[in-house]
Amino acid sequence: MLHFDNSYVNTLPHALWRRQAPTPLRQPHLISLNHKLIKTLGLTASWWASQEALDVLAGHQTLSGSDPVAMKYGGHQFGGWNPDLGDGRGLLLGEIIDNAKQRWDLHLKGSGPTPFSRMGDGRAVLRSSIREYLAGEALHHLGVPTTRALALVGSREPVRRERMETGATLLRIADSHIRFGHFEWLSHSGHINELKQLADYVIQRHYPDCATEKEPYVAFFTAVVKRTATLMADWQRVGFAHGVMNTDNFSITGATLDFGPYGFLDRYDPYLICNHSDHNGRYAWYLQPSVGFWNLNALAHALAPIIPVPALKQSLAEYEPTLTAHYDQGMNARLGLAQTQEIDRALVQGWLSLLQVAKADFTLSFRWLSTNTFDVLLADTRRWGEQADTAISWLAQYQQRCLAEGLSEAERLQRMQSQNPIYVLRNYLAEQVIQAAEQGQYEPLERLLSALQSPFTEQSEYADLAEPPPAWGQCLSISCSS
Ligand code: AMP
Ligand code: MG
Repeated sequence: MLHFDNSYVNTLPHALWRRQAPTPLRQPHLISLNHKLIKTLGLTASWWASQEALDVLAGHQTLSGSDPVAMKYGGHQFGGWNPDLGDGRGLLLGEIIDNAKQRWDLHLKGSGPTPFSRMGDGRAVLRSSIREYLAGEALHHLGVPTTRALALVGSREPVRRERMETGATLLRIADSHIRFGHFEWLSHSGHINELKQLADYVIQRHYPDCATEKEPYVAFFTAVVKRTATLMADWQRVGFAHGVMNTDNFSITGATLDFGPYGFLDRYDPYLICNHSDHNGRYAWYLQPSVGFWNLNALAHALAPIIPVPALKQSLAEYEPTLTAHYDQGMNARLGLAQTQEIDRALVQGWLSLLQVAKADFTLSFRWLSTNTFDVLLADTRRWGEQADTAISWLAQYQQRCLAEGLSEAERLQRMQSQNPIYVLRNYLAEQVIQAAEQGQYEPLERLLSALQSPFTEQSEYADLAEPPPAWGQCLSISCSS
């Protein structure tokens, strides 16, 4: 059973929500439970396998204590302001508090129309629900803050996208579903008292340390700037491309939110545009750090009625140093280095340039460095083709740098193997799992989930999941429709 609390609806003004019951999904069946997460949160495992749980997950029943609402927000989509957003196909069922006294939102995605559905059907298809489920686990286990899912339900309800598909629901958990777009909506519609109420709520719930600062709102915004900066650094560190970095998809707590046509780098291509509809490459992978800053500027505009502009500017100035420090530290860790020195940027950049020119696989190249001594690395010139000379000279530099830190081979390899995954969520792997699931076979999904939940541990039975994409899986274009 679940014990709900509903601080969002009980504390915040009506401008930010509408009560809405889920619309039952026809002929539902349970596809997957996230047993790891159920256990971590201290939830009752047996309940999740019950008929009552399925009824809740498919929107046939609302548990007592749950007070479902659709959240209202706006957002900048591809640079343009849209005031008409909100939960159009998901509901906040309420909040639960885990054993560690941490509060989590439970959000049922795909639960039917709401007052904010506009022309949409309020549904999510199985394909996109699987993609979201996998992405949350993949990022979480790579140490990147993200929403995750507790359960995935499929159905026989037909849902029209580019082709006919079937409806699904995903029970998503997050420390918060409050987006930059919540603040933007209140500010741009002139709800300034409500804006203060929202800021007070977010400070109390997510940034309690800011409450005792001299200027709590300024401290809060600075903290959001820093968390967003570290999130962008994390995405670049692991090679994750979000694909739809609109401000309505940016969490106020700096967690990855709303997975659409995302991608993980296969070969190292900084210009990767993973969203088929992103014709101008606004959200190309290498631009993510600057988009994070653009989004924070949009948030700063929204907060201008309650924070003086000079203070907003001062907070924004924290972005770049925070991001680069976190990125430098993360990339050095991938090279096994505990210290960061100014010159290491050139070393990291040299490695990435080599990968780019050689069209080498991002993940497997790091793993290659992590599993071989320098003797072997230096002898393995064939893998670099025409770039062999560049590779050897880079390896020599890297070896020098390790010596300067007094890093033994054994220590380097050990450190690197806990930082460089062998299993990442490649699009072609997700595609294979989706195709099987659409035929009613869910074993490949469980298998991939399990590999992604231990991404650093090589397991011989998952050897196929560590393979780079075959020709058909190299340039999969992922549609925005979900
Ligand atoms: P997304 O691209 O999923 O972040 O969605 C952008 C906006 O469109 C949000 O307000 C969603 O709730 C809404 N939306 C997306 N798909 C649907 C749908 N099938 N039905 C209703 N609203 C939707
Ligand atoms: Mg969204």
